[in-house]
Amino acid sequence: MRRIAIVGAGQAGLQLAAGLLAKGYHVTLATNRTGEEIRNGKVLSSQCMFHTALQTERDLGLNFWEDQCPAVEGIGLTVPHPEKPGEKLLSWAARLERYAQSVDQRVKMPVWMEEIVRRGGEVLIQDVGLPELEKLAASHDLVLLAAGKGEIVNLFPRDAERTTFQQPQRALALTYVKGMTPMSPFSRVAFNLIPGVGEYFAFPALTTSGPCEIMVFEGIPGGPMDCWQGVQSPEQHLEKSLEIIRRYTPWEAERCRSVELTDANGFLSGRFTPMVRKPVLELPSGRRVFGMADALVVNDPITGQGSNNAAKCTRIYLDSILAHGDQPFTDAWMRETFERYWSYAQHVVRWTNTMLVPPAPHMLDLLASASQSRPLASAIANGFDDPRSFAPWWFDADQCAGMIRDHSSKAA
Ligand SMILES: Cc1cc2nc3c(=O)[nH]c(=O)nc-3n(C[C@H](O)[C@H](O)[C@H](O)COP(=O)(O)OP(=O)(O)OC[C@H]3O[C@@H](n4cnc5c(N)ncnc54)[C@H](O)[C@@H]3O)c2cc1C
Repeated sequence: MRRIAIVGAGQAGLQLAAGLLAKGYHVTLATNRTGEEIRNGKVLSSQCMFHTALQTERDLGLNFWEDQCPAVEGIGLTVPHPEKPGEKLLSWAARLERYAQSVDQRVKMPVWMEEIVRRGGEVLIQDVGLPELEKLAASHDLVLLAAGKGEIVNLFPRDAERTTFQQPQRALALTYVKGMTPMSPFSRVAFNLIPGVGEYFAFPALTTSGPCEIMVFEGIPGGPMDCWQGVQSPEQHLEKSLEIIRRYTPWEAERCRSVELTDANGFLSGRFTPMVRKPVLELPSGRRVFGMADALVVNDPITGQGSNNAAKCTRIYLDSILAHGDQPFTDAWMRETFERYWSYAQHVVRWTNTMLVPPAPHMLDLLASASQSRPLASAIANGFDDPRSFAPWWFDADQCAGMIRDHSSKAA
């Protein structure tokens, strides 16, 4: 029986463990937090996942919350008017062909960890560093590092050619609340793009105490939404969140008249640099460790793709491990497997990065035209499930003009 070690009990590590166990592999999963610590800790993400990624969970029998978790049925975009405070410059919303969902990782990960044990996996609680990687590598056929944004992933060298930014592009904050007025006639990621300030979006989710809404703040560094330093208590964090939306998106503040935090750990703030890393780490012994998901390709959450990427990376890696049979997991196999993932992930990176810089004029035309054309709005909304569909029209002014023309005539 082939022995596989996975470091990190997140979206990628746990899903891969489940996939390998189902095929009879021996799986050791090493991670640095117990299920109890995750459950009782701070929120980790907003983790909205679209249909294709959710399907990978269904296929592995891990979709335990599908019936309880509110559906995210669409995507909406609003741009506030730059000269008329309190008014909208443009606003549209489109339905997703198939719903998205967000299950709080504090709910999901502890149950999945128990499930891995129940299905025959071995779960070790340890903070893995080089010595532990050496041990795992000596006793397993393959070691995967799926440690997300953990310090240890910095052992993988940064890929300078594939990395665009040298520093964080947004000051991030999350606020989990109850009591927000739902969007009608369909639930959605209500995305507000505030020029020069950043982005604010909110959508329904499932947290430890049942359904909730997650408020996500993406402040341009140094701007007025980069304002979380010194905010320490949960109450201060909620108040700051409400202050921002009252100022920039009063229509969103209207929905928040009677919100309260889901729990004393229902908030987060921080920042990180979007990055691509090289996929293989050579240990001092000469043995190799293979990275996956956020450990190698970490995007700003502005497009909500990280958990989706983790699920999609898992599917590619799982297929590649299974197809490899009893052959040794060589450096070449690792690089080839990563390139298969990169052939997908590069599209997500490229698209996400366009959202972090001032928009090109054709993008403004596109977003404005979508408010006049339902098919165009639908193409943008449904692209979140598979960002490859944004090429070439999202990036190229001529292609974009053609896309607007075609979809506007369809609308007519
Ligand atoms: C503010 C914010 C909002 C987000 N919103 C969304 C969204 O709406 N949609 C979306 O798809 N994605 C979103 N993401 C991204 C998403 O949460 C991540 O991309 C996803 O969780 C990555 O999965 P992963 O398995 O690679 O890593 P993680 O889920 O981060 O898991 C890493 C695991 O490794 C463990 N670990 C770390 N270091 C060590 C070590 N040294 N030893 C042992 N174990 C270790 C950790 O404890 C954890 O269990 C968001 C992220 C942030 C920060």
